[in-house]
Amino acid sequence: MRIARFTTGEDPAYGLVDGAGEKIAEITGDPLYQKIELTGATHLVADVRLLAPVIPRSKVIGIGRNYADHAAEMGGEAPAEPMMFLIPNTAVVGPGEPVVLPPQTSEVHYEGELAVVIGRLCKDLEPGEASKVVFGYTCANDVTARDLQRSDGQWARAKGFDTFCPLGPWIETDLDPAALAITTRRDGDVVQDGTTADMVHGVATLVSHASKAFTLLPGDVILTGTPAGVGPVEAGQRVEVEVEGIGILANPFVRH
Ligand code: MG
Repeated sequence: MRIARFTTGEDPAYGLVDGAGEKIAEITGDPLYQKIELTGATHLVADVRLLAPVIPRSKVIGIGRNYADHAAEMGGEAPAEPMMFLIPNTAVVGPGEPVVLPPQTSEVHYEGELAVVIGRLCKDLEPGEASKVVFGYTCANDVTARDLQRSDGQWARAKGFDTFCPLGPWIETDLDPAALAITTRRDGDVVQDGTTADMVHGVATLVSHASKAFTLLPGDVILTGTPAGVGPVEAGQRVEVEVEGIGILANPFVRH
């Protein structure tokens, strides 16, 4: 299933998106917590505004340098163990929403990533148990103020500004994450062209590793790292992150 969160101008609702990405069948309640039941209402995707498909209740967990070619371009090797960081849920925005470049930075980079959405409360999982707690997958842009990432010495601010974590366009629940193409485009030009097959640590290992540090809650999100090709994005540009089998997450970048 593809599960979207959307608004027609009223309160946010959830719905099932068809394979063509054209129609939404509205469902009752939040599918993370309630059985999926259709309300009978349908909409054209073009007629609604898609929202972030999930607002993490407690946390977005990022994974640093999880592709060897990206670790190399950052001037190092991929860490032997997954390297985790936290992004506040206030950084999350949905598809089409502007990413606001703050005045504290003059060097902001896109990072196209596969995002894992957790569906069940869990703790201390082994990798073999991870698939039981994964609700689905969506696309993410782990927007990073590269200058502040260097100067701060840790990443909370550089990756945690409001609007720096676009997610969407919807959650795909039936997907094997082992070998999916990840493509990032800046103003239409392909700037990242990778595959999840090149992750140093795969999704099951990442979910297990995170769960051994933090209790994972329904709606928590794990960003799985970015392939090579990160680069700057300026106000006025638009970045698209496409993950095979999910769809395209597109966001304009602005500076107020
Ligand atoms: Mg990243």
